[in-house]
Amino acid sequence: MKTKKSYLSRTVSEIKPSGIRRFFDLASGMEGVISLGVGEPDFITPWSVREAAILSLEEGYTSYTANAGLLELRQEIASYLSKAFKLHYSPESEIIVTVGASQAIDIALRSVVDQGDEVIVVEPCFVSYSPLVSLAGGTPVPVQAPKERGFKITSDILEEAVTDRTKAIMICSPNNPTGTLLEKEDLQAIAEIAERYDLLVISDEIYAELSYDSGYTSMAAIDGMRERTILISGFSKGFAMTGWRLGYVCAPKEISGAMLKIHQYAMMCAPTMAQHAALEALKNGANEVEEMRKSYRRRRNYMVSSFNELGLSCHSPGGAFYVFPSIESTGLSSEQFAEKLLLEEKVAVVPGNVFGESGEGFIRCSYATSIEQLQEAVRRIGSFLEKIKS
Ligand code: PMP
Repeated sequence: MKTKKSYLSRTVSEIKPSGIRRFFDLASGMEGVISLGVGEPDFITPWSVREAAILSLEEGYTSYTANAGLLELRQEIASYLSKAFKLHYSPESEIIVTVGASQAIDIALRSVVDQGDEVIVVEPCFVSYSPLVSLAGGTPVPVQAPKERGFKITSDILEEAVTDRTKAIMICSPNNPTGTLLEKEDLQAIAEIAERYDLLVISDEIYAELSYDSGYTSMAAIDGMRERTILISGFSKGFAMTGWRLGYVCAPKEISGAMLKIHQYAMMCAPTMAQHAALEALKNGANEVEEMRKSYRRRRNYMVSSFNELGLSCHSPGGAFYVFPSIESTGLSSEQFAEKLLLEEKVAVVPGNVFGESGEGFIRCSYATSIEQLQEAVRRIGSFLEKIKS
């Protein structure tokens, strides 16, 4: 018999599995682990939102919606974006409801990237960006946001990475894994490069609702940037709706039209009952979102001061639900630190290097878990540090 050929595409074969997986696999076989590893809210979706989905089913809304999503939901998204972030998008032609922000990123990239185009990916960042650039036929070009600047990228670093093939820059604020929030002047520095070299910015703003110290500025609200920004957002984080798989993407009409082509052939539409739930979340969910935000903010403050007291230097991130303390003083690599901490003290964190080169020397700790669990995790990390010192 002939040996079997590989049926897999070269692109898929070359994509490496996420470095986070290994830690989840290690932790899943152990008992009594406190996980600071997961990137999702510990809150259950607000009841009125769940009820809206139940009602949607009771009333028999079990068929497809319009490809771009329920018009009523798109109208509500448009008015929410206008009130909350001073953004103006047409519900008819510039907003598409997607299956999570994940699908929004995928169709954004596939609609603008040609074979061999380069996309600058600002790291440390969410692990999906580079693989999705490759799947779209492009070449990811990672650049490192410097730790000395609290992981804010500079225009000089971006400019050095620009070539004739560069199509877009991918950014995320508030950031996963660092929690860094880009202020208006940080966004302006990126915008300047985008304008000078005629590039798009794909701006992942999924954590926008979870900003703690100042108001939130969207890349699309920066002067001149609306026309060259693809805005990614959704309901998973701020509204505690990860399992509903609902996000949205906004872009000028031409790009939205292209994204809709991919979306209608590949996905048809986002789940109908989840769209009804999201409508309720936008209409009446503001108080609950605010309560969750306040709770995360308290936990962020606790984690930042605890890590600094333990001697692990930790800046106070402006958003999301992650802290990113430095473990450089321990002399361990971030992989060694995370693995030893898990095996010896049963606390799961994610080594910073899985999010990009500049994440080495750091660990990502999600504080989307109860304060009691966080306190116990801090106690265990303290005893781990004592042990490795002696
Ligand atoms: N972007 C970032 C930065 C994320 O952290 C995540 C989820 N971890 C996503 C996108 C994907 O979100 P969704 O659940 O809406 O697909």
